Amino acid sequence: MNINVTKPFLPPQAEYQKYVQEIWAREWLTNNGPLVNELELRLKEWLRLDHLLFVSNGTIALQLAIKALNLTGEIITTPFSYVATTSSIVWENCVPVMADICPRTFNIDPARIEDRITDRTSAILATHVYGTPCDVEKIERIAQRHNLKVIYDAAHAFGTTYRGKSLFAFGDISTTSFHATKLFHTIEGGAIVTQEPEVLKVLSRMRNFGHVSPTAFDGVGINGKNSEFHAAMGLCNLKHIDDILRSRKTLSARYDESLRGLPIQRPQLPDNCGYNHAYYPVVFESEATNLAVIETLNLHSVFPRRYFFPSLGSLNYVNDTTPTPVCDDLAARVLCLPLYHSLSFEEIDMICRLIHRALKY
Ligand SMILES: *Cc1c(COP(=O)(O)O)cnc(C)c1O
Repeated sequence: MNINVTKPFLPPQAEYQKYVQEIWAREWLTNNGPLVNELELRLKEWLRLDHLLFVSNGTIALQLAIKALNLTGEIITTPFSYVATTSSIVWENCVPVMADICPRTFNIDPARIEDRITDRTSAILATHVYGTPCDVEKIERIAQRHNLKVIYDAAHAFGTTYRGKSLFAFGDISTTSFHATKLFHTIEGGAIVTQEPEVLKVLSRMRNFGHVSPTAFDGVGINGKNSEFHAAMGLCNLKHIDDILRSRKTLSARYDESLRGLPIQRPQLPDNCGYNHAYYPVVFESEATNLAVIETLNLHSVFPRRYFFPSLGSLNYVNDTTPTPVCDDLAARVLCLPLYHSLSFEEIDMICRLIHRALKY
């Protein structure tokens, strides 16, 4: 049996069936249905947030965020993220400008953001990589000083708290993904969070084609809605979220213990952070070591993932040629080890024995 980097969580089938029966009885499948509303409500309660919009996926969430804030010109962003962070900027006709990352947290480096500000800069789009908080205080100070908007791609941040609040509560807008591979999922899905009621109004209109009534429109919109079936999966999974978070914490601690003493670097968390253990990244001393570990693990049917590789500055639609040496170096050496709810201690011990063996040669 293969061990992959992740495995989607599935609730007991009967729990999902109960919602499916309700959907059949109501014959209401999508368009702001009762389950979508209930999921938004439950998520706001669990995350302790005032506003949250459930959308089709994490990529449309990013595109809606850029559009709703009317961003133009240059957006300073991180080269160390999933491709959707950069592609959304280009898709919305803005220019991504890469600021290198911090070698300890793997998140965008505030000092490098300052280096890259020009009179065309309209915003900062940063990712809380692996669920580790960005330096939100410094980023906010820079944004205020230069009158920039801040969007966080918080696709990895479900369940992480910083200073006692959900990490989604930071920035002008935070977006997240509820894709099947994420810690909390709705099969496909995502959400947008803002503290600003005015921005919320624009976003909720944009999510639904710009409708303000069945016959009236205000501004350009798109179809960013999600369905009752996706909301049902979210409602089921949310009931298991504490269990999901607890098991990931326990499994990560097992990795920590079994890998102790090896020349491996791990991302550094800030103080006052309640981490969600969304991923288990390890950084080896060289790319050669990383490739040797991957080869050994693959031979034993273990499939970790080079996440994120390559650096987003290398995309053929990014024209920025400013070097990002910290990111390039990290991307070559980082590996995400398998981590999911049903992974066992025995499997982790086996993976760690193989890593110990690969590092000896
Ligand atoms: C998963 C992910 C996305 C995209 O989310 P989708 O729901 O798959 O569209 C964007 N950014 C990051 C950092 C991600 O991990």
